[in-house]
Amino acid sequence: MCERCATAATRPGIRRRTYLKLAAATIAGLAFRTDAFAQPTPPKPENVLSPDAALDRLVKGNARYVAGDTTKHDFKNEREPLVTGQNPFAGILSCADSRIAPEYCFDAGRGDIFVCRVAGNFASDEIVASFEYAVQVLNTPLIVVLGHDACGAVDATIKSVKDGTVLPGHLPTLVAAISPAVKAAQGEPGNLLDNAIRRNVMLNVDKLKAAAPIVSKFVDDKKVRIVGGVYKLASGKVELLA
Ligand SMILES: [Zn+2]
Repeated sequence: MCERCATAATRPGIRRRTYLKLAAATIAGLAFRTDAFAQPTPPKPENVLSPDAALDRLVKGNARYVAGDTTKHDFKNEREPLVTGQNPFAGILSCADSRIAPEYCFDAGRGDIFVCRVAGNFASDEIVASFEYAVQVLNTPLIVVLGHDACGAVDATIKSVKDGTVLPGHLPTLVAAISPAVKAAQGEPGNLLDNAIRRNVMLNVDKLKAAAPIVSKFVDDKKVRIVGGVYKLASGKVELLA
């Protein structure tokens, strides 16, 4: 130890102040580096889930909805955490039918589920692109294709396929998208509408699973799970199909 250091070491006040300055500088440096490389904090940490845990959360939410025991929301104060971002734990492809309300039927809040809706709940290119954003940017681990019983879009498609009727306006677009499910269900025993609704859900589950290059990769890597379900109008229960 040199004379200068030896002198300083004999003065506890100076030694302590020097240590504190060094410690503060080190901590400041570490904090800077951490900030520089840190990922943005998920606004809803409870939404960072595995695909299976996300599905379990939806199932439990639906059970609360069926039982009439749903969460009371503080809408005013729930807004603030979502100002800077979102990390929904599930994506839902639902029919546009006004009787289906995904946030209600899974007892979820804003920022929890990423919902795309179109009559007949089919995966158009725009909807595939929306889920590409959800899985790649928002880290959403689960997608549910959600049909429902007594679906008017599927029923209209059945009539069009059976009678060859061309529906007015842009409705043929819906018919074209839903027709493969109707045709596949035509040979099945049981109720054609119910069968076509399930077929339509599962065909769109398969379409999303195969949606290259983004969604399919997340599915193959087991980072995303895609399942189907049918919402029962009378009970509110979502019956999972896969
Ligand atoms: Zn519908």
